[in-house]
Amino acid sequence: MAKLNKKAAQEEIENLRKKLNTWAEQYYAQDAPSVEDAVYDQNYQRLVELEKQFPELVTSDSITQRVGGEIKSDLGKVEHQIPMLSMGDVFSKDELREFDQRIQKLVGGPVAYNVELKIDGLSLSLEYSDGKLVRASTRGNGRIGEDVTKNVQYISDIPKTLPEALTMEVRGECYMGKEAFLKLNTERDENGEAVFANPRNAAAGSLRQLDPQVTKKRNLSTFIYTWVNPPKEITSQHQAIQQMAKLGFHTNETGKRLANLDGVFAYIDEYTSKRDSLSYGIDGIVLKVDDLTLQKQLGNTVKVPRWEIAYKFPPEEQETIVHEIVWTV
Ligand code: NAD
Repeated sequence: MAKLNKKAAQEEIENLRKKLNTWAEQYYAQDAPSVEDAVYDQNYQRLVELEKQFPELVTSDSITQRVGGEIKSDLGKVEHQIPMLSMGDVFSKDELREFDQRIQKLVGGPVAYNVELKIDGLSLSLEYSDGKLVRASTRGNGRIGEDVTKNVQYISDIPKTLPEALTMEVRGECYMGKEAFLKLNTERDENGEAVFANPRNAAAGSLRQLDPQVTKKRNLSTFIYTWVNPPKEITSQHQAIQQMAKLGFHTNETGKRLANLDGVFAYIDEYTSKRDSLSYGIDGIVLKVDDLTLQKQLGNTVKVPRWEIAYKFPPEEQETIVHEIVWTV
């Protein structure tokens, strides 16, 4: 990339931030994106590059330094004791190699990864007290989320009571399966209502409802993948998932613990070709350092954990018309 002078960079940075802020507001607050994710991602990457070239132009309110969007709904607010972060992403296997080299350098040797599908939905936190589901919340801006406790009562795969009287928090993805999404959009189309851009926006709009009765009709599902502060005997991400499945959470059965990148690349190839045949949408795969002690050691930046990365699939054929979408929460 040709190096810009500082004034030109400042101008471009300001333009990019303005565009990205508008798109993020449409996507996160209104569940109604006006551009494809690939367009958003390209502009975001350009901003990252410019901020790398001119670190003195990075501001704490830049979209590269914060999670999600502002919360504008009338749902109650929940403060996350442990922030719900975003995730770094890469778009090629070479960039995954660089990620692996960075990790190896930081921890002093090869590490095993747990690879998982990147489910195209929205993050959800579930809190249990003495085995009872007491609170559910969205990620929001990472520190403050929206209270969707009443709404998740109508998501049938979420256990409302655990088999043991555990006090715990788990996190995962709330999503709408492809069949439910098609059915919903067909109904909306027949009723002359605007259709949803994609299952992700349909899930977000359906969960973040003031009237839980709307959520009830929407057929949402979850995949749970994080145990926040698990007990000491759980030492790896892979084990955490297996244990959460035993407790009754809906976990994704395709996750694998892999000793090296060759296995990761084979997993990517496998799910690039299986992607369309899955009953739910995925937009990539997630690579997580499997060892929980190493995860702690690696820690987080202000926005993302250093121990995980998303490999994003190349954009799919344009299958939806985003400009038709209207949604109000
Ligand atoms: P992200 O959605 O790309 O990745 C982070 C999220 O992945 C996590 O918060 C979690 O909810 C989810 N996830 C799914 N499967 C997971 C798994 N197995 N393990 C862990 N997490 C998993 O990041 P983001 O910050 O929420 O959003 C940024 C992305 O949103 C952009 O890359 C862009 O594609 C899209 N976006 C699009 C627009 C638009 O206008 N089209 C606007 C804003 C954002």
